Amino acid sequence: MEPMSNIFRNLPSVNQVLDSPQLEPAKLGHAHDLVVAAIRSELDDLRQRLASGDNVDGQADAGALAQRVVARLQREVRPKLRSVINATGIVLHTNLGRAPIADEAARAAYEAARGYLNLEMDLAEGKRSSRQDAIRAWVVQLTGAEAATAVNNNAAATVIALRALCQGKEVVISRGQLIEIGGSFRIPEIMAVSGAILREVGTTNITRLSDYEKAIGPNTAALMQVHTSNYRIGGFTESVPLDDLVALGQKHNVKVIDDIGSGAMLDFARFGFTGEPSARDSIRTGADLVLFSGDKLLGGPQAGLLAGKKEWIQKIEKDPLMRAFRLDKMTLAALEATLRLYLNPEAALQTVPVLAMLGVPDAELRQRAERLAAAFSALAGVASAAVTRDHAFVGGGSLPDQRMATWVVEVQARDVGDHELARRLRTGEQAVVARVRDGKVVFDPRTIFPRQEASLLAALRSALDAPVAAP
Ligand SMILES: *Cc1c(COP(=O)(O)O)cnc(C)c1O
Repeated sequence: MEPMSNIFRNLPSVNQVLDSPQLEPAKLGHAHDLVVAAIRSELDDLRQRLASGDNVDGQADAGALAQRVVARLQREVRPKLRSVINATGIVLHTNLGRAPIADEAARAAYEAARGYLNLEMDLAEGKRSSRQDAIRAWVVQLTGAEAATAVNNNAAATVIALRALCQGKEVVISRGQLIEIGGSFRIPEIMAVSGAILREVGTTNITRLSDYEKAIGPNTAALMQVHTSNYRIGGFTESVPLDDLVALGQKHNVKVIDDIGSGAMLDFARFGFTGEPSARDSIRTGADLVLFSGDKLLGGPQAGLLAGKKEWIQKIEKDPLMRAFRLDKMTLAALEATLRLYLNPEAALQTVPVLAMLGVPDAELRQRAERLAAAFSALAGVASAAVTRDHAFVGGGSLPDQRMATWVVEVQARDVGDHELARRLRTGEQAVVARVRDGKVVFDPRTIFPRQEASLLAALRSALDAPVAAP
C-alpha cells in the first residue's frame, strides 16, 4: 500500500479538474468562481474521506471528480422554491401554498408581470385611476355590496378595517370568537395592533344578544363577528346569529363587521359542507363590512378582500396603511381573473381548482386511484399498492370538523421504510409530499392533478431506486 502522503499528492489539481472535458457544460452554464469553489469542495470531501480510510478507487481522477462537480453545481443553484406534487389530499395545504389558482388566473399574473398594464390608468380618459377599480366592480357584482377593496391577506384586511374605522374606540366581540388562525394571527393581538379597543363579552361557549347590548356604550364603534373557521365548539353552546347582531347594530348606530374567513362565493352545501358563510349572504343580512381571504375557499391568490358600505371602504382606502398593504400587479391580475370565473358559477366548479378538487365525483376519484395503483404496482421496488377508502380534510383552517370521503393508494416498498420513502419523495428532483401511515406511504389523488401523474410515477421510481439521497 502507498504511504498516506502519496495518496494525497496523487489527487488531481483544481486546474486538472477544470480542464477535464466532463466539466465543459458546467463551465458554460456557471460563473467561473462558482465552478472553482465547487471543485475545491469536492476535493476537500475526497481528502476527508481518504483521511478516514475510505476506499476512493475510481473516484479520485479528474474525470470522476468533474462529474461530481457538475452534480454539485446543479444542486447548489437549484431554486429554493420548487413545485411540489401534493399527494396529501389536503386541498388548502398552508405549507404548500394554500390554493392553486386557475390557469386563467396564472396566465393573467404572468402577462401582468412581464409587461405593462393599465394598473392605475383609466385608458378611456388617459388619466390616473385606482388600482382597486379592477377588482372592485367584480366583488360588488358577486357579493351585492356597495363597494369593495383588497389588501395582502385577511389579516391585513382586519387590521386596516379596525384601524380606519375603530381606532381608539371599542369593538365588541364574543369570547367564543377570540380565535387564533395559525402563526401570529390572534384576534386580541390584531385588535391591539390596529389601535381599536377589544371589548370581550359572553363566555367561551355561550354569548347572548343581551351580552352585546350591555356592552354597547358611547365609545363603541362596532360589533364584530369572527367565523370560527378552524375550530368548533360542541355541546352546550349559544351564539348570536348575524341578523340579530345587525338589528342591534342598527338600533344603537354602531357598525357590524363580519370576518367570514374563507371567502366562499357559492353555497358549500353542494360539496356536503355545512355552516360555511358566504360573502353575499353576509351582505344581504346587513353586515356593514365583510372580510375574507382570497386563497382559501375562493381559490384565488393570497389576498384579503373587504366588501361593504361605500363610506367605510373609502375611509379604509384613505388610511396610510393602504400603501403598505395594497396588492401588487401580479396578484391583482390573478385575483381579477379568479373573480371573473365566478360570473359563471357552474363553469367555476370546473375552472377554479379548489372547487374542482372538492367536487370531484367519488367514482372518478376511485378510478384515478386505481390507475395510479396499477402503475405503482408495476414498479420493481413496490411490494404492494392498494386502493382503500379514506378521509381527507379541506385544510387551510377551513371546515375543521368536516371530513370528505376519498380513495387513496397505499404503497409499501420492498426495501425502503415508510418514512425513508416519504423523505426521498420530498427531496427528489420532482418533490412529492405524501402522508405516512402504518408502514405505508399514502397518495390521495384528489390533490394530484391528472397532468402530474406521469411525473409522480417517475418520482416514485427514482425514490425507490435512489441509492444515496442528495444532502
Ligand atoms: C384565515 C382567516 C383569517 C386570516 O386570513 P389570512 O388571509 O390567512 O391572513 C382571518 N380570519 C378568519 C376567520 C380566517 O379564517
